[in-house]
Amino acid sequence: MPVKHRLTAPAPGWTTTTDVVVVGSGVAGLTVALNVRKAGLRAMVVTKAMLDDGSTRWAQGGIAAALGEGDTPEQHLDDTLVAGAGLCDEDAVRTLVTEGPDAVRRLIATGAAFDRGEDGEILLTREGGHHRRRIAHAGGDATGAEISRALVSAVRSDPGLELIEHALVLDLLTDADGHAAGLTLHVMGEGQHDGVGAVRAPAVVLATGGMGQVFSATTNPAVSTGDGVALALRAGAAVTDLEFVQFHPTVLWLGPEAEGQQPLVSEAVRGEGAHLVDADGVRFMVGQHELAELAPRDIVAKAITRRMQEQGAEHMYLDGRHFGAAMWEQRFPTILASCRAHGVDPVTEPIPVAPAAHYASGGIRTDRHGRTTVPGLYACGEVACTGVHGANRLASNSLLEGLVFAERIAADLTGRHRAEDLPERSVDVTAARAAQPVPLPPSEARAEIQRLMSRGAGVLRSAASMADTAAGLTMLAEQAYAHVAEEKPADPRVETWEAANLLLVATALVAAAAQREETRGCHWREDFPERDDARWQRHLITHLTAAGDPVSTPEER
Ligand SMILES: Cc1cc2nc3c(=O)[nH]c(=O)nc-3n(C[C@H](O)[C@H](O)[C@H](O)COP(=O)(O)OP(=O)(O)OC[C@H]3O[C@@H](n4cnc5c(N)ncnc54)[C@H](O)[C@@H]3O)c2cc1C
Repeated sequence: MPVKHRLTAPAPGWTTTTDVVVVGSGVAGLTVALNVRKAGLRAMVVTKAMLDDGSTRWAQGGIAAALGEGDTPEQHLDDTLVAGAGLCDEDAVRTLVTEGPDAVRRLIATGAAFDRGEDGEILLTREGGHHRRRIAHAGGDATGAEISRALVSAVRSDPGLELIEHALVLDLLTDADGHAAGLTLHVMGEGQHDGVGAVRAPAVVLATGGMGQVFSATTNPAVSTGDGVALALRAGAAVTDLEFVQFHPTVLWLGPEAEGQQPLVSEAVRGEGAHLVDADGVRFMVGQHELAELAPRDIVAKAITRRMQEQGAEHMYLDGRHFGAAMWEQRFPTILASCRAHGVDPVTEPIPVAPAAHYASGGIRTDRHGRTTVPGLYACGEVACTGVHGANRLASNSLLEGLVFAERIAADLTGRHRAEDLPERSVDVTAARAAQPVPLPPSEARAEIQRLMSRGAGVLRSAASMADTAAGLTMLAEQAYAHVAEEKPADPRVETWEAANLLLVATALVAAAAQREETRGCHWREDFPERDDARWQRHLITHLTAAGDPVSTPEER
């Protein structure tokens, strides 16, 4: 099926070709690129900002894998299935947990240095929902920064790998059979390629990360605007589980007006024994769950939100004073520095914390080889929904998922094609021109979308709250159409393309969340407080209609 919708953008002014074009330079994208290069394919990585701008660099706690004595993939599988609340794809989880340990060892061979004890063994910590110490970490609480450093250094030392930074990918191009044939992109700044162009490639891999920026308060960096999901929807691909947004329970509270990326206080701080307390110093998680503060994230986020509501408080506290200065400095140097930079000293005072949008458990639907429902279009990392997270991601499974499924995409591509026989695909230019241009909202729409989403589709959701949010989003879309009709359209540029992507993803997310009339995993409905397996133990699959509206259909059982 040819692409039916595209962002409003000038026609490509330049074209280049490669075998595999990878969009995004986090753990997922760079792992695909390194692996297809090893097999001799030509590859190009296109990324929106600098190579290390993405969530990967910010990951603190670590990467989960059954590496410790006595731990097994089967136990990791059990914990993952419990967190996923009945919606994990068990085969996908089995793939993750069995291939995970070796994938981490290969990451170490690529150059990532994990923290080790005096005996040389990798140190492992615990996080919420894990019954064992199985989280490998680096630099204390700077795991993502070390993984990113190692992968960026590896890709930079391959002169055959083309890297295009500061380039926003817009839309997919297909051939006459509807097979991926490349993409359009906008390169910012001066260089060999400039302005809107096209990359022709028979394999396109989306590794664009999350969509936390659809909410006002998020741990995600500014680049996490859901571009990959929006592109996939416009390209006709199936997207699933969008309603399952994980809100991290312990994000440093910076005041009622704080917006954008906010500092995370990793679950590993609770893993090492910090307590969640209210303003009276009461440990309110004790007695709510057998793991108390280390219960799965959704349970902790809900308990914090509930306590905040009961007490009319804007935040709770995380108390790690008993760690002492030396432990804070050695084990959590990044968190210590970021709290102190905001005027909070965890050594001497409890840290004010509140939940914020953290992780998209859903995304572009893929099989276990990372293939989407559009032939030739792959997805991996946070943008993908492989089925491993179900209704709620288990802590530290995401870096692992990015690694494992990126390797599988590379294996799928290189197993089927030798460097010299990857079939060429000609872009169907007529279809590309015929695709309907989506009108662009003004750049200010971003903040309005975030406010609407946080108010009505955040940790607490109800039919009424989401109807308000949906109405606000519809109005923003109608205004964009009206501006086109009045011949006053917003300029096509990065801010307006991102706003269009945020608007589409937010609309799709709210539509799915409104439809799912139950509480499950990280989707919490105040008006449907129970899990309803009879009706809802199934996925919602989202597509765009011919008119460009997202619709979600419950999967057949
Ligand atoms: C603060 C924080 C802490 C976390 N801690 C952990 C942890 O301890 N353990 C764990 O497992 N997970 C953790 N996570 C989640 C994990 O970091 C992410 O899920 C994972 O890094 C995602 O990797 P990725 O490669 O899919 O995407 P990212 O690393 O987000 O990379 C996405 C890339 O796509 C690019 N991009 C996006 N849109 C476009 C476009 N239109 N055109 C071109 N390029 C584009 C971006 O610039 C970026 O390079 C954490 C996340 C955050 C935010």
